[in-house]
Amino acid sequence: MAEFNLDNILRNNVKKLIPYSSARSEFEGDAQIFLDANENSLGSTLNNNFHRYPDPLQKQLKQKLSTIKNVPVENIFVGNGSDEAIDLLIRAFCNPGIDNILIFPPTYGMYEVSAEINDVAINKVLLTKDYRLNIDAIKEGIDENTKIIFVCSPNNPTGNLLNTESIEWLLKNFTGIVVVDEAYIDFAGITSWSQGLNEFPNLVVLQTLSKAWGLAGLRIGFAYSSKDIIHVFNKIKPPYNISEATQQLALQALQNEAQAKAKTNILIQEKERLLQEFKQFDFIKTIYPSDANFILIKVNDAKNLYQYLVSKTIVVRNRSSQPLCENSLRVTIGTPEENDALLTALKNYSV
Ligand SMILES: *Cc1c(COP(=O)(O)O)cnc(C)c1O
Repeated sequence: MAEFNLDNILRNNVKKLIPYSSARSEFEGDAQIFLDANENSLGSTLNNNFHRYPDPLQKQLKQKLSTIKNVPVENIFVGNGSDEAIDLLIRAFCNPGIDNILIFPPTYGMYEVSAEINDVAINKVLLTKDYRLNIDAIKEGIDENTKIIFVCSPNNPTGNLLNTESIEWLLKNFTGIVVVDEAYIDFAGITSWSQGLNEFPNLVVLQTLSKAWGLAGLRIGFAYSSKDIIHVFNKIKPPYNISEATQQLALQALQNEAQAKAKTNILIQEKERLLQEFKQFDFIKTIYPSDANFILIKVNDAKNLYQYLVSKTIVVRNRSSQPLCENSLRVTIGTPEENDALLTALKNYSV
């Protein structure tokens, strides 16, 4: 099989692109007076220093993340959520109307939506019935126009980690980009694929501050990849994609890794409790194992149970429309009190 070669799969317009050059990135030296970017030198109505454009490359934030995640700064891209990284990947590598991405449903919805927005076709190979990668079927799903494979592990909405050997097979045999979306990695207790960047030049790992770090409202996601692929991200991203406020708050949050870990541990304990407690309910037909902060359950009548829980002011996610997820609800682990309320509601549910 051919070797991975970035130049072969990068879109021509991206290869040729001369990126936007911001005022401050053209200047090097020790200036005190900045009259170069048409900012408001008097400042704003806020007391913060938000009258200057933010660092386009988020150096401080990357440095902190680098030490926490053991990934060199030059291998990190910071996005406005992982969703921005997903969109940029599709725009960098997939020619609209020609190329396609490969996904493994049931999985995260944004791969498909981002591809649709960019007029990029979507090849789908279902997971097996027990939600594993099916390499024989995947071989059939790859064609000469397949540029990106999205692997979500732990997978959303099923909750399980996908098989290491199968992911490794993709990385070694597919000559396009393999994205491993690790949004839920902190709940899984395994080593990140980011530690394999040197071995796999076609690997892009996605992580986020939205889940274990509890910062879904900030919109920060990360892509870890080779220097060359990070260069592509930086070339095509909006110049100031992460606001100064967001950079400051994210940096502040990363200073307290111990607290984030403590919260993660509570959520993992609560998940174990719910997994046990769910067993008492006859209307729950299958409780799927979970390496994430949610549990997928198959029930008698998902619509009915969903509506019942709403009537008790509890919202879960009905995933029944997804392939292989008939009558399935995805339940996010709440606070201990919220989980108690869920269990009480379930005890009072009569089919
Ligand atoms: C929640 C989630 C994300 C996070 O997206 P953000 O844009 O970073 O909030 C990414 N991938 C998967 C699979 C998710 O479930």
